[in-house]
Order: sequence, then C-alpha cells, then structure tokens
Amino acid sequence: MGRIFAKSFSVAISSLVASLVLAYTVVPTLGGVVDGNAWLVLTICPMLIAWPASAFAFLQTDKLRSAHRDLARTHAQLADAHRRLEDKASRDNMTGMLNRESFFNGLDRSRAAADRGALLIIDADHFKKINDSFGHLTGDAALLEIAAAISRAIRTGDILGRIGGEEFGAFLVGASDQEATRVAERIRREVELIRFQPVDERTIPLTVSIGGTPCPTGATISDLMRAADRRLYEAKNSGRNLAVFRAERSEAA
Ligand code: GH3
Ligand code: MG
Ligand code: MG
Repeated sequence: MGRIFAKSFSVAISSLVASLVLAYTVVPTLGGVVDGNAWLVLTICPMLIAWPASAFAFLQTDKLRSAHRDLARTHAQLADAHRRLEDKASRDNMTGMLNRESFFNGLDRSRAAADRGALLIIDADHFKKINDSFGHLTGDAALLEIAAAISRAIRTGDILGRIGGEEFGAFLVGASDQEATRVAERIRREVELIRFQPVDERTIPLTVSIGGTPCPTGATISDLMRAADRRLYEAKNSGRNLAVFRAERSEAA
C-alpha cells in the first residue's frame, strides 16, 4: 500500500510540475498572467485528480498482477494433479507397473523411436496351485515378490507392465538377441532365488516361464505377442522355470 501511495504521489507531483510549467510558458505568450488564484487551481487540481486517479490505477494493476499469479499457481497445481491422475490411470494398482494398455502404448512409442528391441512375456508357474494351497492373499504377496524380482532384473529404460493376472510383459529397448537372452535368464534366476516364506519357516518355491522374441521393424504387436506366446508355451511344455528366446525365422530352419 505504501508503495502505491509513493508511486501515485510522484505521479501527482509530476503532473503538478507539468501544469505549472505549461501555465507559466503558455499563459504569458497569450498575454495573460498567472495570478495567485490560477496558481492555487494549478496546484490543487493535479493533487486532487492525478493523485487518487493514479493510486486507483496502480491498485488495479496490483490486483490484476496478483490474480494472474494466483491463476498461474492454480494452473500449475491442476497440471500436476492431471499428471498424477494420468500416471495412476496408466498403472496396475497392485504392482505399480504399467497396466496392459499402457504397456502396449509404451511399446509402440519405443519401437517408433528405436529400431531394435525384444519382447518378453513372463508367466508365473503353477500360480493357481499357490492360491489353492495358501489362499489368495498369499498369492497376492507372491505376485508382488515376483514383480519386484522382475523389476530388479531388467535394465533401466526397459518397459515393464502387468499384462494379465500372473503375466508380465517386458520390452527390452534396443536389446540384441544375446542381450535379451541374458536378461530373460536373469529374470528367471532372480525369481527362482526368492525365498518366499509368508506363513512359517517353509519356503514356497516361486518360478516363472519366459517366452521372448526380437521385434523386427514391420511386425505388429499382435505378431510379436503371438511369437512370444509360442516361446512361452515351449518353455511351459519343457518343464517350466525356463526362458526361451528365439527369432521367428529360425523356426522354419
Ligand atoms: P501355468 O504354469 O500353466 O501358468 O499355471 P498357472 O496355474 O499359473 O496358470 P493358470 O492360468 O491356470 O492360473 C493362473 C492363476 O493366477 C489363476 C488366478 O487365480 C491367478 N491369479 C491371477 N491374478 C492374480 C492375482 O492378482 N492375485 C492372485 N492371488 N492370483 C492371481
Ligand atoms: Mg501361470
Ligand atoms: Mg498366465
């Protein structure tokens, strides 16, 4: 408030000086005289008009500026809330991984940006048996352990999602066949090493089977899923707790 008072006072003084200068230069040229009354009017008018008018203008500008700041702050808060909501909607509630839809969107985006990569489908072995033997809550806890093990085994920047109940998808961005085989094996091993003891000292073994395929350009997501699924069934049929990674073309060979 003091700042507005000072600023509007300086405007009033400036207009007072301007009107005096104008009066003392123009009036004598026209043959007139600036007498005491005229001097009084010249002094009082700027002080009575310019001072409150400019104070009002400065006050309005200040209010506008403050409203603009509030608006910008609210906008930033809204954008932040929107980001958080979007992130929440794209994730699976239980594991915090991307949900199926977001996983495939991420896969699409990543494939459009990089020309290489590999897709793994990771499926928990005999998971129904865990639920049937120990209950769904224990099953949930086991699933979280498996999800954490998979997260530990993949590389930073890879895309991970829960694409089904006890099924996970990993897109290994830019991975060669050798790298993908190594990561798939690391995931299998990391899950196998979990010591899951939800109730007593007894350890419940947890394993996953993994099917993987390279992602050649031009292949659709359905092609890739079909190829990875075929490898997954090979892994399941070969006894489970196994990673099978192979390119589609070597099938024909
Ligand atoms: P396989 O080795 O052939 O994959 O056998 P599986 O028992 O894992 O496969 P199946 O498809 O027969 O059963 C999957 C089980 O996973 C059944 C389902 O209840 C369980 N499951 C899926 N999602 C969840 C979950 O969020 N929590 C729990 N506790 N169980 C789940
Ligand atoms: Mg399973
Ligand atoms: Mg399954």
